[in-house]
Amino acid sequence: MTAVVDRAAGVAGAPTAATHDTYEALGIRRVINANAALTRLGGSLMPSPVLDAMRRAAGAFVDMHALQVGVSAEIARLTRNEAAFVCAGASAGLVLSALACITGDDLRSVARLIDHGAAALPRHEVVVQCVHRNPYDPALRLAGARIVQAGNALQTFEWELAAAITERTAAVLYLAGPRFAAGALPLETVLRVAHAAGVPVVVDAAAQLPPVENLWRFTEMGADLVVFSGGKALRGPQASGVVLGRAALVEAIRVHASPHQRLARAMKTGKEEMMGLLAAVRWYLAQDHAAVAARNDSTVAGWVASLGSLAGVTVRRDLPGEAGQPVPRALVTLDPSLGILSAAVQAVLLTGDPAIDIATAGPYSLFLNPEWLEPGEETVVATQVAAAIRVLTRRSGSASR
Ligand SMILES: *Cc1c(COP(=O)(O)O)cnc(C)c1O
Repeated sequence: MTAVVDRAAGVAGAPTAATHDTYEALGIRRVINANAALTRLGGSLMPSPVLDAMRRAAGAFVDMHALQVGVSAEIARLTRNEAAFVCAGASAGLVLSALACITGDDLRSVARLIDHGAAALPRHEVVVQCVHRNPYDPALRLAGARIVQAGNALQTFEWELAAAITERTAAVLYLAGPRFAAGALPLETVLRVAHAAGVPVVVDAAAQLPPVENLWRFTEMGADLVVFSGGKALRGPQASGVVLGRAALVEAIRVHASPHQRLARAMKTGKEEMMGLLAAVRWYLAQDHAAVAARNDSTVAGWVASLGSLAGVTVRRDLPGEAGQPVPRALVTLDPSLGILSAAVQAVLLTGDPAIDIATAGPYSLFLNPEWLEPGEETVVATQVAAAIRVLTRRSGSASR
């Protein structure tokens, strides 16, 4: 229940006011996030245990090799994994995973990769199902990997995946989540085919929390490395992430990473991020997930009732959430006769006071997401959305006259 109390006091707690002053002093407005854990909005807000852990970590020097080993061992234990590595975000985790799969922990291979690029190594291709190509997979290219597509934009057959895997394959990347499952081979099949060829499978599960079980589900299924963002649902430091999985591959990650002065030094993680992420994992595991889900449900139900009473507006609860998670949103649909496009509502909300960021869902629909709101903001969102619709209805009415 502490989780609920913590939430009721505001996830970020006391630092919030100071943060707003800081932004305003620069002439930059804070934004209410009714959209998603988006990096362009600052990701997520850290709960006080995370902020406290970062502040404490900032107060003393420490051996960074030892800290990474210690923090990772604890995160691995908490998440029921063999090993873990704290990195600078899920994208950094993908770069590190690709580097590790290309070189292993062999320092001569690491040196060859640094001097001549990944193509100088025998295994430098990462196989990705065409349906799993996504805006984050350039991370593989940053490691020097060549992306080899399997299947087409609609589907992959097992034989296509098997044929794409050759003696040049370093890994297969799998994009987890129900939203990316259509037409894709299931993870079980990918694991069977890749492992039969002796090739590891890296799972990008950056935004696949909740459910909390995903922290161990993919590795229990046999995935070799699984990457999560630290700054999304875990509410850890925004520039943090974690790779979970097999000890040998995590050792290979370590070889490339800071504090070594090698390729991934460019994606270093500080003592504050490491201790912050550990606190975030503890905080997330201790959450009353059913209570959080109930609160999201009640916020959405409130929006359905209040906004649904507006003329020409229908509102319903919609699942799954933005990245396919089991988090409900309100789907607000404007009758075309109102003459209002959802993009116009979005623009009015973003320039309003306070600014609110939402996602559109086609020309006449928009999503309202309860997940990242601070207590009380759900009412602000309802009021501002209703006001925006009213203003735009008036405008469109006067334009047609
Ligand atoms: C958010 C996300 C990433 C990137 O995560 P960061 O922690 O911001 O680096 C990678 N892959 C997917 C599928 C994501 O949703």
